[in-house]
Amino acid sequence: MDAMQTGDTELIRAINRFHVLDTIRRFEPISRAEVGERTQLSRTTVSAIITTLLDEGVIYYDEGETSGATKSMAGRGRPRVLLRMNPNAAYVVGAKLSMHQVSITVTNLRADPLACLVLPVRTWRLGAELIADLLEDGIRAAVTKAGITMAQIAGVGVGLPGFIDSVAGISHWSPILAAEPAPVPLARMLSDRLGVSAVIENDANLVTLAERWFGHGQGVDNFVVVTVEAGIGMGLFINGDLYRGHHGMGTEFGHSKIDRHGPLCRCGQHGCVEAFCADYAILREARKIVDLPPTDDEPSIEAAVCEVTRLAREGNEGLRAVFDAAGEILGLGIANLVNVIDPGKVIISGAGMRAADLLEPSVRAAVATNSLKVLAGRCEIVFHDWTDEVWARGAASLVLQGLYRLPWSRNARIEMAI
Ligand SMILES: [Zn+2]
Repeated sequence: MDAMQTGDTELIRAINRFHVLDTIRRFEPISRAEVGERTQLSRTTVSAIITTLLDEGVIYYDEGETSGATKSMAGRGRPRVLLRMNPNAAYVVGAKLSMHQVSITVTNLRADPLACLVLPVRTWRLGAELIADLLEDGIRAAVTKAGITMAQIAGVGVGLPGFIDSVAGISHWSPILAAEPAPVPLARMLSDRLGVSAVIENDANLVTLAERWFGHGQGVDNFVVVTVEAGIGMGLFINGDLYRGHHGMGTEFGHSKIDRHGPLCRCGQHGCVEAFCADYAILREARKIVDLPPTDDEPSIEAAVCEVTRLAREGNEGLRAVFDAAGEILGLGIANLVNVIDPGKVIISGAGMRAADLLEPSVRAAVATNSLKVLAGRCEIVFHDWTDEVWARGAASLVLQGLYRLPWSRNARIEMAI
C-alpha cells in the first residue's frame, strides 16, 4: 500500500509539473498568481514547482516585462515580475516516416522548429536495419544543421503508420516494415545507434499530440482527431491524456465497420470506414467514371487523387458524387464516435483535407443526422490541414510530453511517464 501511495504521489507531482510548465508555455509571460488561477493548483504547490523549474533553468523571471492584464490585476503601482519558459533548456528531434518520405525536425523545448530535413525515400523497400540507419544519419545531419550537438538532444520521437506499441517501443505491423518477418523494436534500434532515448508512436497519435500542443486541441481535455489519407487514422485524448488502449494499439477507427457487405478493406475485412473514404477508395470509385493512369505507389496515388479532386472541383458531377458519398460515410463513422465518446471536438485532418471543400458538406450533414440529438449541436467539428513538418513537430511533442513531467536531473534517461 505504501508503494502504491508513493507511486500515486509521484504521478500527481508529475501531472502538476506538466500543467504548470504547459501553462507557462501557452500563456507566457505570466505571473505566479495567474499560473495558480489557470491550473487551479494551491499556492504552495505552484510555488514549489516554480522554484524547482527556476533552479533547473527551465523557466526564468522576465523582470523587464509586465502584461496589461497583470498591471490591472496588480493595481497597486508595483509591477509584478513575469515568468517565461527558457526554450533552449532542452532540444528534441521529431521524425515522421511515411511510405515515400522521411521528415525530420529539430525543436527546442517550446517545439519551435530549428532545422528540418525532408528525404524523398521509398522507405517500404528498405527493411528495418536500413530504416534505422537512414534515421540515424538523417537525425545527425538535422542536429548539425540546427547548430547543436547530439549531446544536447534530450530525446527522439518517431511517428510511423501501423500498429505501434509505443510503451514497448515496438512496431507490430507497419506498411513501411511490412517485409519484416517479426515485430520490430525500432525504438531500441534507434537508441542504440544514437545514444539518446527514442520513442515511437502511431502517426495519427502524433498529429493528435500536435493538435493538443499547437492546434485546436489546446485547452480541450476530450477530443478526437481523425486523419484522412492513404488510410483513415484516429487519435483520442481522454481526460487530458492520449488514449492508446489496453494493448497500446487502440482507436483503429479506420477499421470500424460501416457495412459488413461493403467493399474490401486493406485489412482483409469488408466494409471498414477506410474502405469507403481513404484515398484508394476514392480512386476505386473514380475509376468507374473517368480514365486514370495506373497507380502502384503512394506518389502516383497522390497525383491521381489530386487530379480527381481538381476535376470534381471543376464541376464533374459524377466525381462530386464520389466525394459526397465518401463524406457521408466518414460523417456516419464520426457520428458513431460522437455517440460513444461525447468529445468536445472532432478535428478532421491529414492529406485528405486537400479535398476538404468537397467532403465537408456531406460530413457535417451525416454527423448532424446520425449523432444523438443531445450531442449533435454541442460537438464542434473542425476541418484542419497539417503538413508533414507539423507531424514531425508532433513527434517532438511526444518527447516533450515526457520531458515536461520529469525533474530535469532525470532527463538523461527519459522514461515515458504516460
Ligand atoms: Zn479494415
